[in-house]
Amino acid sequence: MRVIGRVLLTLVTINSLSGSFLNKVASLFPRSNPLPEVVDFHPGLSRRDIGCVDGFDVRDCPLIQSQCQDMICEEGTSCQIIVQSCSKMYSVGIITVSDRCYNGTAEDLSSVALKEILQDQKKFDIKKKELVPDEVMKIQKVICSWTRNSDENIDLILLTGGTGFGTRDVTPEAVTPILDKVADGLSVAMLTNSLKITPFAALSRPVCGIRNKSIIITLPGSPKAAKENLESILNILPHALELTLGLKDAGEKFHKDLKNDDKFHHYNLKPLQRGIHNCGHHHDNDKSNETNKSDLLGLPVALRSRKSPFEMISFEKALNLIKRNYPKPKKISKKVDFDLVGYVICEDIFSQENLPDYRASIVDGYAIYHNDGKGEFAVMDSATAGEDSVLKLSSKEICRITTGALVPEGATAVVMVEDTEVIKAADDGKTEDIVGINVEVSEGENIREIGSDVLKGELLLEKGTLITQIGAEIGMLACCGISEVNVYKKPIVAVLSTGNEVVDHFQKLGKGQVRDANRPSLISAIKCAGFEYLDLGIASDDPAKLEEIIRFGLSKCDVLITTGGVSMGEKDFLKSILEQNLKGEILFGRVSLKPGKPITFVKIPKEKNIFDQDKICFSLPGNPVSALVTFFLFVLPTLKWISGEESFELPKIRVMITESIQLDPRPEFQRARATSIKSPQALEYFKFNKNIKAEEEGIGFIVNVNGFQRSSRLKSCLNTNVLICLPGFVKGKLEVLQPGTCLDAIVIENIGF
Ligand code: AMP
Ligand code: MG
Repeated sequence: MRVIGRVLLTLVTINSLSGSFLNKVASLFPRSNPLPEVVDFHPGLSRRDIGCVDGFDVRDCPLIQSQCQDMICEEGTSCQIIVQSCSKMYSVGIITVSDRCYNGTAEDLSSVALKEILQDQKKFDIKKKELVPDEVMKIQKVICSWTRNSDENIDLILLTGGTGFGTRDVTPEAVTPILDKVADGLSVAMLTNSLKITPFAALSRPVCGIRNKSIIITLPGSPKAAKENLESILNILPHALELTLGLKDAGEKFHKDLKNDDKFHHYNLKPLQRGIHNCGHHHDNDKSNETNKSDLLGLPVALRSRKSPFEMISFEKALNLIKRNYPKPKKISKKVDFDLVGYVICEDIFSQENLPDYRASIVDGYAIYHNDGKGEFAVMDSATAGEDSVLKLSSKEICRITTGALVPEGATAVVMVEDTEVIKAADDGKTEDIVGINVEVSEGENIREIGSDVLKGELLLEKGTLITQIGAEIGMLACCGISEVNVYKKPIVAVLSTGNEVVDHFQKLGKGQVRDANRPSLISAIKCAGFEYLDLGIASDDPAKLEEIIRFGLSKCDVLITTGGVSMGEKDFLKSILEQNLKGEILFGRVSLKPGKPITFVKIPKEKNIFDQDKICFSLPGNPVSALVTFFLFVLPTLKWISGEESFELPKIRVMITESIQLDPRPEFQRARATSIKSPQALEYFKFNKNIKAEEEGIGFIVNVNGFQRSSRLKSCLNTNVLICLPGFVKGKLEVLQPGTCLDAIVIENIGF
């Protein structure tokens, strides 16, 4: 006998008998062959209370009757039914990995050979076959869509090809990162057997393991080797599958698993116990459920946590966790041009040249010997900017000169044209022969000496300097002859909206659908802040699809932002996918703030995936205001830190509120418009509210909150330039803030007058 599966059903009423329970169970396990024979169940029902399970009478079942002695259960309670059968067909999927088979230049004989062996066994049902090129993402995509919890629920996935030393062989590299557990024993068994046949087996790189209860085995590409390898483990495969699917000795063992299995320890299965805990009141301060681990993917809704398993941490603690875990800035070399704006210089830059590197006139006028004083002098020549040689001047000689022109050798000053007069014009009447100098000038007057603006070797821009949009830094680098600089690389940010109900804003809406507000708003904010973005579109709430798009996004970006799917809803899978399938570390999954409480920050290590570096992901709540506000509070500062900016926070100002504000238990960031306390609006306000005064001296701004602050109401963000930082409510001490109260406000947009 072996267990073939579990159903979670709910007791409905005691007496509404209908149909046969076994038939109902059989219909839920259509693949079981023969039909299920025995049922078991837990947490249990009492004989007294036993009744209908989803409308089916369980009293007909002898096993239930014999086992329900001392158990308690109430109407509406969930219970787990375990179904057993004598034998089971395991579903198999075969993936042939080969560029040549994929593009039709070779025939796929390996999968045919594997199919023959499996069919002989009568235990395997080949449900899927797929041909893919030697490409990591494509291989992973098929595996992810076949493993259990996906649409296909394949028990055994065999890959043939791509396990050698060839440059295109990447099957092990595709499989390794997506395994939950590695099964080296299977690899060793295959290698040991193959080495007895040929020493070349040493050049095969098999990888075996488990993902979501599906066993994955990589086999060589040649039909002969693939067949030999599979045969070497064939007799132990059914047992391996039984264990992986948790089918052996299910009843008691399942209970033991809950207590002992590492995986069950890590992830949340507690609600199963809570399901029979019926004390009828909430434990708001009970933190025992805070395991900081996401619910196991695939766990039925009734068994999932009913309170978030994530500790609610403070805003400050969340920022500190980000500071400790964001990817450190990387250095790159960039050309000095307008694309450099927004980058931060990562090393001190010294001038390579003197500026100016020749003696240049500061004015249009006449180069002279300053000791000659006032008087009339012969004009010897003219020097205009851009000419590379001019005459050598002697005492009593002068030379016409333009701004920026090379000062003649010997000249000690330049007199402005306005302080001179023409005494005698040349014969052609076009130039002057003799000019009167009407003022005394001192030595060096109106001459920019060599290096007088910047000396060669002088520090031009310090490490950490931000290249601003005012252009001064770029201009400075340009005029000192620096054409390339080392800067911190700016992160590439990928943006994904999630939700079955979410559609692109240009689409017609179906019933129950909403337009995607988050990608358009976040991408604009990212772009305007000067970061490169990758638009990942909208993903449905399907774990396999979500994982696939997240993997793709992470392979292309440094920071991933997702919106939606992080709360407590039935379809909120983001936390579980990031933690369980991408092996990410959830650094926080709940923050005490409003809006945006479920914001989640995850670090995804490179070694567990195939990324070139660690990645980070911000999973923001789906409501448009929550998404945008948490972007400014958490994501934008992080993007700036990754880009090397030293200031760790967005700028803050002190503001005075103009209306009373009821506080929320959580610190709140309300959307508001700040204006100068001297602005016409502010003057008008004080004219009509003569009794209201700012409680602090020297306050520069008043703020008006932008209407109703619900987190779905994006209108509250219109016209916003600050987020005012409201403290959390303290009963009896701090409940309502009165007009005139002064607070910090985070500046997110320019503040006009
Ligand atoms: P969730 O965080 O997925 O539970 O979603 C919370 C609310 O936000 C739901 O009402 C969603 O329909 C809505 N929502 C989620 N994503 C978006 C989006 N991209 N644009 C607009 N509304 C959204
Ligand atoms: Mg959702």
